[in-house]
Amino acid sequence: MDNTNAKQWDNDHFLHPWEGMDTLGKNNRTLVEGASGIHVVSDEGNKLIDGPGGMWCTQIGYGREEMAEAMADQARQLAYFSPFSNTNSTAARFAREIVKRAPGDLNQVFFTTGGSTAVDTALRFVQFRNNLLGLPEKKIIISRQKAYHGSTYLAASVSGKERDRLWLDKANELTHFLPDVNPLYRAQNQSIQDFLNEKVADLENAIQTLGPDKVAAFIAEPILASGGVIVPPEGYHKRCLEVCRRNDVLYISDEVVTAFGRLGHWFASKEVFGIEPDIITCAKGLTSGYSPMGAAIISDRLIEDVAGQDATFSNGYTYSGHPVSAAAGLKSMEIIEQESLLEHVQLMTPIFQNRLRELSEISLVTDTRGMGLMGCVQCSETGDAQDDLKRDYQLGAMIDAECQKRGLILRPIVNMCVFSPPLIINEAEIHRMFDILKAGLLAVLKAN
Ligand code: PMP
Repeated sequence: MDNTNAKQWDNDHFLHPWEGMDTLGKNNRTLVEGASGIHVVSDEGNKLIDGPGGMWCTQIGYGREEMAEAMADQARQLAYFSPFSNTNSTAARFAREIVKRAPGDLNQVFFTTGGSTAVDTALRFVQFRNNLLGLPEKKIIISRQKAYHGSTYLAASVSGKERDRLWLDKANELTHFLPDVNPLYRAQNQSIQDFLNEKVADLENAIQTLGPDKVAAFIAEPILASGGVIVPPEGYHKRCLEVCRRNDVLYISDEVVTAFGRLGHWFASKEVFGIEPDIITCAKGLTSGYSPMGAAIISDRLIEDVAGQDATFSNGYTYSGHPVSAAAGLKSMEIIEQESLLEHVQLMTPIFQNRLRELSEISLVTDTRGMGLMGCVQCSETGDAQDDLKRDYQLGAMIDAECQKRGLILRPIVNMCVFSPPLIINEAEIHRMFDILKAGLLAVLKAN
């Protein structure tokens, strides 16, 4: 196939996520035409380490023949049929395999098309349940500054990244945002313990101010991913869950990024953070990015509140439980197990995190943070952690550009670069990745 004009077609016709109107039609984006293992290959033939793991999702890496086979077999047998009144055995099997690995009594899987629709489904289920319980006033969702939960109207309404709230409408009456939980921004003499107490009190106070009879749920990513890999202080989630339980507020753990191995476990809520939430949302690593799919996993307790009532949960998608995506998910799960990738992530984590922390020697770097195979390097030209974002707006993009020249793609976000490579990354590849990142940072430092 002749793709000579693909860049021009892209410029002229493909509106991308977060498309900047000032550069519309002029981006000349790099074409990624192939990939294998942890590498993607550009149209210019450059082999680059996939730093962001696609978009936090390519757990088992690229080019897996067995994935292609499993998906093709399913497409041949049954590519699609309506999930509304019928079902397919592949999705049913996948639901069973997911709940086997999910914590506590999270036993009901609602399949969606991705993370946003998983969050949307979770929020709509909470509304549905409260309506059926005769609590129509109990609807407010508490979220946090810098949270990202998706791009549907409802999921975007509970997302707290300031810049993303500038131009699009939101259901503001339904949401309340708690302040940043990043310990980096705590007051100068404040201990981590005091900061933790303050953040937990933020939730408690918000519930009391808004009224426990008005607040339906608290939604939280275990680690705020797109907000800049923000790791809340230890014990935060456990204590927030206690606050929620005391006030009859549901806890939705948005594990779209953290589930399926990113932190070395199937789900991070229980194994890493010690909580059994009421609903977990997931996507991305669910199929290792081979096919779109998400899920809201709902606890038996919540289902019992609605089961048997004369009501319909009128929420669903043409592609809920899509057989080809379910086949991809099952095979990806099998590969994660066969190759002991959860254990592998646990082994690689200290190497990855140590190399990340070493970057703080570079004067451009104001913070390094992360957990598991998630990392963020934050920079400022002034070296001040309370940085002037306007001044440093382009730093992430500059670092990414320098790293791409050297064989590594990053995900720039304002003055940060975040990364979450495929879980199969080995020790030598981690060293290579951080060697390039260091060289990229030094090149930007020199140029400034
Ligand atoms: N929740 C979180 C925590 C996410 O990081 C994302 C995507 N980055 C979403 C929800 C939305 O997922 P999707 O893009 O698949 O709709």
